[in-house]
Amino acid sequence: MQRTVSLKLVNPQVHEFRQTMMTFRNACQYISRYIQQGAPVNRGRLHRRYYRSLREQFHLPSQMAQSVIRVVVGVYRSLKSTQQLKSIPTFRRPQAQFQYNRDWSFSNGFVSVRTVKARRRLQFIAGKYQQQKYLDDPEWMCRGARLVERKGCFYLHITVEKETPPLSKPATPIGIDRGIRALAVARAPETEPLIIRGGLLVSYRSSMLRLRRRLQAKGTRSARRLLRHLRHREKRFVLDFCRCAAKLVLCYAQRFNRPILVFEDLIGIRGRVRTRSRKNRRMLHSWPFHVLKQIIISKSEELALPVTTVDPAYTSQRCPTCGTTSKRHRRRNNYRCQRCKYQNNADVVAATNIARLWLNDVHRIEPGVPSTTQTYRIQ
Ligand SMILES: [Zn+2]
Repeated sequence: MQRTVSLKLVNPQVHEFRQTMMTFRNACQYISRYIQQGAPVNRGRLHRRYYRSLREQFHLPSQMAQSVIRVVVGVYRSLKSTQQLKSIPTFRRPQAQFQYNRDWSFSNGFVSVRTVKARRRLQFIAGKYQQQKYLDDPEWMCRGARLVERKGCFYLHITVEKETPPLSKPATPIGIDRGIRALAVARAPETEPLIIRGGLLVSYRSSMLRLRRRLQAKGTRSARRLLRHLRHREKRFVLDFCRCAAKLVLCYAQRFNRPILVFEDLIGIRGRVRTRSRKNRRMLHSWPFHVLKQIIISKSEELALPVTTVDPAYTSQRCPTCGTTSKRHRRRNNYRCQRCKYQNNADVVAATNIARLWLNDVHRIEPGVPSTTQTYRIQ
């Protein structure tokens, strides 16, 4: 697994660092242009053809010229793998990338970076949590680094890597249902569910939306600046909210014996949540379903908890007790089985069904029939 740690550089050589980032960016564009004209996306062949001209035209140190080729090839390869062949990569933002122990390294509490002119040793500031968790722990190995400038400050974003611990063999499924009324509901079958309400997020976003509307109507320069600022603030708020929710979900999961986190496919959510008003639709489409899942996955990776996804068909309609499936069982947030009169919160029912789906899959039990062989222990 990989994480990124941001180091703020103290007293950098501003002009030299800017020059390094600009030169690196220009060199990337130079190589990219040749690829668009038909040069092969291959490190060795690009190196043979353009290494010399990179060094002569851009006065790049040897390592940096190699990094340029590696970065450009990487960008093209990743575009190809995600099937976005038509989009042409542009290297607009000035930034430089380094390789560990070649053009950047740590030495005696300093960070050492190779610029276009010289090797520079600098003091740096790291977050306390990042310092303790990643930099002081020898199990996390340093990899590449990226030099960026933000608001006149220079940062080195370093990548650290650690071997993912072996996953435990799963025994208890924790069904996770994501929604709007409840941001997340987690439940291991036949236990108390964890419900994280989304109301605070809904009201925060609605008030932000109203504020944005007013500012957009105003249209002045300062209003636009404030809008940009608010967009960032809202993003941070949502991220923080999701991080807290993820933490709660993982705490809940860890109470059980060898848990596995079970999600339903994202496609299911959009189709399932019935929306009537335009306002609700907008809320649904900007809702952080994906962000929440990603945060939970990255946290569970560190805890060595397995994660899986199941087909979401009927998760909100099937009765967990008698197994019948009907749309009429559900009325908004209430679930009431028409046949056996089982009653519960609709999101809790969905989470239960998601967990069950995993059990069914593993133990080959007929869908809807609760497992009798499985025992659930709360530690
Ligand atoms: Zn029923």
